[in-house]
Parts: sequence; structure tokens; C-alpha cells
Amino acid sequence: MAVSSLNHKSLIVHDPILEYILEENAYPKEHEQLKELREITVKKYEKKSVMNVPVDEAQFLSMLLKIMNAKKTMEIGVFTGYSLLGTALALPDDGQITAIDLDIEAYETGLPFIQKAGVEHKINFIQSDAFLVLNDLVNGEEKSSFDFIFVDAQKEDYMKFHEKVMELVKIGGIIAYDNTLWLGSVAYKQDEYEKHSKMPESVWRNRDYVIQFNSFLASNPQIESSLLSIGDGLTLCRRLY
Ligand code: SAH
Ligand code: CA
Repeated sequence: MAVSSLNHKSLIVHDPILEYILEENAYPKEHEQLKELREITVKKYEKKSVMNVPVDEAQFLSMLLKIMNAKKTMEIGVFTGYSLLGTALALPDDGQITAIDLDIEAYETGLPFIQKAGVEHKINFIQSDAFLVLNDLVNGEEKSSFDFIFVDAQKEDYMKFHEKVMELVKIGGIIAYDNTLWLGSVAYKQDEYEKHSKMPESVWRNRDYVIQFNSFLASNPQIESSLLSIGDGLTLCRRLY
């Protein structure tokens, strides 16, 4: 299968390399319900289906969660639940995920596969603007209690999310920010935009937020961070204090 026919094309990793990673490594071991969820998302949402993390990234996150022995996690931005189902499969049977999204229709599209995989009991889905939930949690008794938080909602708010999730993740815990390479746009100068005009205008417009956020993280003493060129860029932050 050529990469162009997949729902994940990368502007960061060259096509043959991505194809090798996906075809030879990631797809053959994809969990059956993840595959079904991914396929129904492509069918229903077409181009928008790229919002699901790619298979190799989900497998990386799954392994990370197991290495960390994560039990209590949060996901901000669920869509149809590919990364959510990947997380639910990786957590122990008594694991808990607080999953937040405004869009219940997308969540319900993936829910039958979460149920079929037998992991729905680990998920507390909250249909809400994430800020409302985060404000409640930081004012309640959930401070410094999460092992892992995956942030994958609108990029212009990552800075504001950071303030809140840093209060919720435990010291030594991980916050993972998705799409921090923003289709590679963060690396280009303004005058190079024409050369990369396959990038939609909307991507280019939002790139400043991502650049600012990345530079904020890179110089923040409260975290240790690592920007991975997997998927559309994934930044792992470990809370130090
Ligand atoms: N993590 C998912 C993809 C999430 S796509 C996966 O990899 O499978 C981003 C989602 O963030 C969208 O479904 C959108 O509805 C949601 N979102 C955007 N802003 C939000 C907000 N302020 N609060 C809650 N959800 C939000
Ligand atoms: Ca994403």
C-alpha cells in the first residue's frame, strides 16, 4: 500500500521511511479494535481522520505508559478515540483515564470499538471545554495526582493548558504534547513559505503559537523535555518540581 493511500502522510519523515515504519512494523501489530476504529474514522471523517495519532505514535505511547507503570491519566482532545483506546489498552485493569472533548459525536463513533476491546470501564469521558474541567480539578483534590497527561486539543491554547496540567501531573510524571512540529512548519522561515505551499494557510497561521510554545518548554526549568519527530511531533515533558 502506498503511503499516499494511507490516512497518515508526513511532512516530516520521508515517504519511503514512513511507509517502512507503518507497513513493516506498526500495522502488523495494530490491535484489532484500533484498526477498526481507525477505519471507521477514515470512512466517516475522511481528511479530518488525520487528527487521530498515527499507529506508530500510538504504539510508542503505549509502551511509554507501560514502562512508567501509569495508572491515572488524562487526555485532552479525544476526537474518535484512537489515542484514547491505545491508552486504555496499555493501562492495568484498574487504570483510570479522564478523557475530555467537546465533541461527543466523534467520541461515540469510536465508542463501540472501545467497548468491544473491553476497556470502557477505565474511561471517564467528560463532554466539556477542557478548561472548565481543568479549573475544577486544580481547585479540588486532584493536584499532583496524574501519572500521565496527553494534550491534543487546539494548539493556540497549549500555553494555557500547560499552566493547569503542571498542577495536576505528579512530580516525575509526564505531560505529552502532540503536534509540536506542526507539519514541519515550525522549522521554516516566512520567506520559505512559498516553497512549502502544500501547507494550508491555516497551518501557517497557527505556527507562531507552536513556535512560541516549543521555545517556552525548551527553556523551562520546571520540566525536562524531549521533542520527538514521531507523527506530527510529540514533546514529552517530565515534571521536576
Ligand atoms: N487525541 C485524538 C485526536 C484529538 S483531535 C487522537 O489522537 O485520536 C483534537 C480534539 O480536540 C477535537 O476532537 C476537538 O473537539 C478537541 N478540542 C479542541 N479544543 C478543545 C477544548 N477546549 N476542550 C475540549 N476539547 C477540545
Ligand atoms: Ca494530534
